[in-house]
Amino acid sequence: MTRKTVLITGASSGIGAATALLAAKSNYDVGIHYNSDERGATLVSQLCQEVGATTRVFQANVGDSDDITRLFNEFDLAFPKMDALVNNAGIVDVPARVDEMTPMRLHRMVSVNLVGAILVAKEAVLRMSTQYGGDGGVIVNLSSAAARLGSANQYVDYAATKAGIDIFTKGLSDEVANEGIRVAAIRPGIIETAIHAKGGLPDRADDMAPSVPMQRAGTAEECAAAILFLMSEDASYITGTSLDVTGGR
Ligand code: NAD
Repeated sequence: MTRKTVLITGASSGIGAATALLAAKSNYDVGIHYNSDERGATLVSQLCQEVGATTRVFQANVGDSDDITRLFNEFDLAFPKMDALVNNAGIVDVPARVDEMTPMRLHRMVSVNLVGAILVAKEAVLRMSTQYGGDGGVIVNLSSAAARLGSANQYVDYAATKAGIDIFTKGLSDEVANEGIRVAAIRPGIIETAIHAKGGLPDRADDMAPSVPMQRAGTAEECAAAILFLMSEDASYITGTSLDVTGGR
């Protein structure tokens, strides 16, 4: 079976790392992107190679458009084509009410979670679209349950960027449906990853578990499984959809 190629942003940890490993086991060669955690990215790369994948590690800040251009140029040199993109890199900030949010915080949130994700998807479209000589492909974006719940008193800025990802997923899917590209998203709920500690709430997943109908936080591997399904031929008639991975939340 011919191996396919996927680029996963933010793959040095959490959902991105779990998706890289599952993709490697599912016959993908993997472009592993990271921002600052080179050690994490190298470890993920080694684990992917152990299950037979060819890998390359790329550094870029997705909040910087020049970095994104460089990332894709490096990808082009490393891999013959891009079959899938997992547009996973994202940030939260410390919990705050909107009246406490500084312009700097809001600009950073929007430039990484929304502008960055759109620019990354744009570069993928340029490589996948049959209109530009590509063979088609699949883009899976990372939204969040926050896109529907709003995250009042914590991260309304984050929730707004993820709601933007949902509607971007729908709009882009319509735009490229006739160019061989499917675009979908997952909306994780409370997932046990380091993102909560980065937002200053290391126990958030455990603390919120009782509010989940399934009474537990989800795992990065459960998100990876949903992402790989959306990437697969089993999802060949699914586009424009954001899939909840929330334990019912
Ligand atoms: P994580 O912190 O482990 O992963 C986020 C990744 O994005 C990291 O590898 C980080 O280095 C990368 N990143 C952050 N800023 C970047 C930048 N400026 N440039 C490049 N890369 C950058 O957390 P995670 O939970 O695995 O998050 C993955 C995605 O899932 C994010 O988009 C997040 O918003 C989304 N999500 C997570 C949860 C959850 O509960 N964990 C819930 C909903 C959505």
